[in-house]
Amino acid sequence: EHLLPMPAPATVPCQYRTGKTLGSGTYAIVKEAVHIKTGKYYACKVINKKLMEGREFMVRNEIAVLKRISTGNPNIVTLHDYFETANNLYLCFDLCTGGELFDRICAKGNYHEPDAAALVRTIMGAVKYLHDSGVVHRDLKPENLLFRTPAEDADIMIADFGLSRIMEEEKFHLLTEICGTPGYMAPEIFKKTGHGKPVDIWAMGVITYFLLAGYTPFGPGQPAAGDGGHPCRGLQVRASSCLCSAEYWENVSETAKKFVSECLTIDPASRPTAAEMLQHSWLASERPHFVPDP
Ligand code: ADP
Ligand code: MG
Repeated sequence: EHLLPMPAPATVPCQYRTGKTLGSGTYAIVKEAVHIKTGKYYACKVINKKLMEGREFMVRNEIAVLKRISTGNPNIVTLHDYFETANNLYLCFDLCTGGELFDRICAKGNYHEPDAAALVRTIMGAVKYLHDSGVVHRDLKPENLLFRTPAEDADIMIADFGLSRIMEEEKFHLLTEICGTPGYMAPEIFKKTGHGKPVDIWAMGVITYFLLAGYTPFGPGQPAAGDGGHPCRGLQVRASSCLCSAEYWENVSETAKKFVSECLTIDPASRPTAAEMLQHSWLASERPHFVPDP
């Protein structure tokens, strides 16, 4: 069988050769790519223009956000290059070869508490940087947290700024679209009362819950929106009761459980900020001692 010749790229000659697929998400396929001139490897997010028709602004926004933040913190993926052809948009990132946090949690069952705290401290530090830079991520979840290398102690990186927004003001009720991934979305998103940076702290609570327990509080298959926009009140009650009772939580310290429930504060105005959560006793000390609770 002969391959038909591809139409010539419309704008730039392709400087990369793409290889195996690294992952895919809602709008994109991410492939390993080698820069032909330098032989350097990157991760290339390939976005089909047809699929994005009418939503091109989303990609422009992703690029704008990445330009603003992607070199200022070691735990946020760096955008190196972007270009387009007749059919696709390409965003070239640092290659993270260690896979998604999601797969590591699944492989381990759950994380040991000190390891979970170390990861959460790093991610929360990067979230604080984002928020200080006027960016809300809105899609924090273990599928969008990548390890730089396959090493056990590899750096963790925040990726996928496809749903993020630039938000200069501290107000937490400026954004109104329903967006995100249901199991990680804060109640104010469903309630459509307006949302902002606090949604990232809620998601951090869900991620921390998942790290410690090995399952998510608001299960992926669960209809998160439900009745009258109040799904999460019941869910939070459930989250807290799971935190106390289930066998999965018996080796987890009270401090860690408190950390999770504080992130899962229903009212976004009273939910602590990233800066406050970094001061939480679960994360604050460099070498916390995880004395099991009596
Ligand atoms: P989407 O917006 O479609 O969710 P993402 O940016 O999250 O796209 O990328 C989809 C998947 O591709 C990620 O979940 C991850 O598995 C993989 N991926 C993304 N960026 C990189 C990267 N820099 N290095 C390695 N793999 C990546
Ligand atoms: Mg993604």
